[in-house]
Amino acid sequence: PAVHEGILRRQSLRESAARTYARSLPIVPVGARGLTIEGADGRRYLDCLSGAGTLALGHNHPVVLEAIKKVIDSGAPLHVLDLATPVKDAFTTELFATLPRQFADNARIQFCGPAGTDAVEAAFKLVRAATGRSGLLAFTGAYHGMTEGALAASGGAEDVRVTRLPFPLQYRCPFGIGGERGADISARWTESLLDDPKGGVPAPAGMILEPVQGEGGVNPAPDGWMRRMREITASRSIPLIADEVQTGVGRTGAFWAVEHSGITPDVMVLSKAIGGSLPLAVIIYRSELDTWQPGAHAGTFRGNQLAMAAGTATLAYVRENRLAEHASSLGARMLARLRTLATDHSCIGDVRGRGLMIGVELVDPEPAPLTCGTGGATEAPPDPVLAAAVQQECLRRGLIVELGGRHSSVVRLLPPLTLTDEQATAVVDRLADALAAAER
Ligand code: PMP
Repeated sequence: PAVHEGILRRQSLRESAARTYARSLPIVPVGARGLTIEGADGRRYLDCLSGAGTLALGHNHPVVLEAIKKVIDSGAPLHVLDLATPVKDAFTTELFATLPRQFADNARIQFCGPAGTDAVEAAFKLVRAATGRSGLLAFTGAYHGMTEGALAASGGAEDVRVTRLPFPLQYRCPFGIGGERGADISARWTESLLDDPKGGVPAPAGMILEPVQGEGGVNPAPDGWMRRMREITASRSIPLIADEVQTGVGRTGAFWAVEHSGITPDVMVLSKAIGGSLPLAVIIYRSELDTWQPGAHAGTFRGNQLAMAAGTATLAYVRENRLAEHASSLGARMLARLRTLATDHSCIGDVRGRGLMIGVELVDPEPAPLTCGTGGATEAPPDPVLAAAVQQECLRRGLIVELGGRHSSVVRLLPPLTLTDEQATAVVDRLADALAAAER
């Protein structure tokens, strides 16, 4: 405990005021395996943050460790810029084998790096170069990263021209309607802006969307709406960029979340789980877009051999063990249990998710609930204070959860896809206890 306290104290003195997770999760991980993290204080935690959704196989999965060791033992160079290597060849081959056929058959890959936000920037540069246009379309509640372009598309920087369109929320629908009607209005809004030569955005370079918004509070895009967006962009020759940084590699119950709606995007942005816990980010895109010049997107760290080896092992394991299907069925059971929990807790405003990407939105049921549009759904205000309290109560009970959403009122679960039924039960039980304690 003394070591633990010392590390936390020094960190709080030395690290930036912008530090994030370390504030709400004052733990000092020293060991980890699968779902479990061990702290320097000897406590064990069930980790449903999973490196912000990175650890598809949990911590230190044997196949990942083995793959990393193999590269090290082989004496292969670890740093190779973007040169061709057997490790990279194996990674690219495995990655392409997981992609929807109609996309992979005519696609190119650009190694970016090392983070998701780098790949988002590359995607923007690619569609700008290919179309000769500059503006971008993004959605309310989106999160694409922390560099300037990605931040602008996330609503956090104003110096890149991004037009924001309403994401079709089912809960707290911006039109007060929700359901198919809300999604229809979002699509019509988009069309009207694109077709309006004065005051609209007739010639954007591309549209970026998340099939399930993660940081935005776990908001799954309806499949029909995804298809509408694909039609709207295709018919106007606007490249569609699917940001699958968080939704990829089985997380939502399909290997890639675009498979749910069956759409083929023009560009896919991939990171997090593809590196098997090490930094790796790529874009994959329709080969016709490959019009940029050599060196148009460079960078020193685009060839992390250990990340590629760890990624190859992870992708193969998820594919061979059908972990996307597992995430789909186990996620559905967890959602059902959490919805049952909602009947006993009026502070649960909504439970939603896809696969093992789950969100529980907490509300303050005390003030008079607002009546939402003609749908008649009542929506109490979001309760970020309660959400923060629930996160702390979870931590006390040995459960690590993330908060998200516009108001930080959504408790998010992103467990490894290797989660077992028993572990899922333990996670929901601890969350239920934490809710009961925080509510008092
Ligand atoms: N896109 C999405 C959908 C994300 O969830 C994130 C990270 N949470 C990013 C992009 C940015 O990735 P990174 O933090 O690795 O830059």
